[in-house]
Amino acid sequence: MSVNWLMQRILEFRYRGEPPAEWASEVRRLSFADTLTDAETRRLVQLSRMFESVVRFDGRHGVEVDDRMRRVIILHACRLVLGLGYEPYRFVHRVTIAENTFLLDTRDGTVRLHGAAESGGHVAFSWREVEAGAEWDDDGRNVVYHEFAHVLDGYDGVVDGRPEVGDERARAVWAESVDSAYRRRRRGSRRRQLIDEYGATSPVEFFAEATEVFFEKPIEMAEHDPPLYAAMMHYFRQDPAADLRAVLDELA
Ligand SMILES: [Zn+2]
Repeated sequence: MSVNWLMQRILEFRYRGEPPAEWASEVRRLSFADTLTDAETRRLVQLSRMFESVVRFDGRHGVEVDDRMRRVIILHACRLVLGLGYEPYRFVHRVTIAENTFLLDTRDGTVRLHGAAESGGHVAFSWREVEAGAEWDDDGRNVVYHEFAHVLDGYDGVVDGRPEVGDERARAVWAESVDSAYRRRRRGSRRRQLIDEYGATSPVEFFAEATEVFFEKPIEMAEHDPPLYAAMMHYFRQDPAADLRAVLDELA
């Protein structure tokens, strides 16, 4: 099951224009609301309503999924694809929400998780973790960004920490800047690092952790590791550091 090209165009047309009141008020509550232009807000809500119309939400262990839960998850997921469009989410069809952690059976036994993304297009979250991620906007932690980064990574058919970045040259730049950032993270000194320790476990987790930091602490990433930031910026077609600096300049 997937949302093909034609269906995406139909949905884009259906959800064009000004955001309805219930979406506009949810956007205003987002930690990154001030960094969005009016055009970006319209695009974010358009993508979000497309997502809402095709993805089924369900709760686990008695969780009743309400509009707010659904919208908070969708808006954060769609922020990642503001520059990419809906296409990389075409296979996403289901989101499951648990209250706290949930258990997943894997080849290595049963593990306790805050979030998970299956290659078939089923994504699952702990609501408590989603809320914490949405609330603390600059701590570099956001489980929705993390799991949807895995979705983006897997869009080209392989979950390998290398999303579809473009032509050969773009792939070479990605390899040089992101792979070397990953190797540095693995060698990691003990001092506090921008990218969480979990990112050192594999290139796949590194990309997911780096996505969290790219959107939550963009200025720090741009200063700490300019080549990594540039590669992420090129892939996502967004410059959250510049957007955040503009807001901070206005406040100063
Ligand atoms: Zn992960």
